[in-house]
Amino acid sequence: MKTLKVGFDLDGVILNNPLRTLRIFAKKLKVLKPIFFKQEKSPFYYPKTDWEKKFWTFVHKSSYRIDPTIYQLQSLVQEKKIDAYIISGRYSFLKKDFNRWLKKINRLNVFKKSYSNENDLQPNDFKVKMINKLKLDIYVEDNWDIIEKLNHHTKAKIFWITNIVDRKIPYQFKFSSLKEVCQYLKKLV
Ligand SMILES: [Mg+2]
Repeated sequence: MKTLKVGFDLDGVILNNPLRTLRIFAKKLKVLKPIFFKQEKSPFYYPKTDWEKKFWTFVHKSSYRIDPTIYQLQSLVQEKKIDAYIISGRYSFLKKDFNRWLKKINRLNVFKKSYSNENDLQPNDFKVKMINKLKLDIYVEDNWDIIEKLNHHTKAKIFWITNIVDRKIPYQFKFSSLKEVCQYLKKLV
């Protein structure tokens, strides 16, 4: 049996983030739009001023723990059923926090390699680039807004971890949690 190459987003997939739900609600209600969803020629917001960067850092700092499902991923890796990678769209100014998390995560020996968006590409472009470079079979993402883009530009199966706001959107590979993704992977390999 082939070892599946599986990529994981960091925030909202490997790390639990309570502000994520708030952000999705805010988007639905179109409040906080100037902060979170400034529309420019590129679809993803990049914080420019120091204040915006501080705020953005705070949002990411609210990722507060590693999802306990990581131990199930660890078993899948140990049984050589999957090779796991982290591909995070986090911009360069979040690198310090990214490395802090990696230090904790790497103790568990789950991920072969981890990548963050340190050249500040559009997060979806960065993910497409890495998914194709690593020739991933599967990538696990929580942000609905980029699922279609990843589907159009990669051959990987894009798994979507949904949320209470978007969960009615029809999609082939839709999961309610990382735990559900693991259960699916266990059956698959
Ligand atoms: Mg995410």
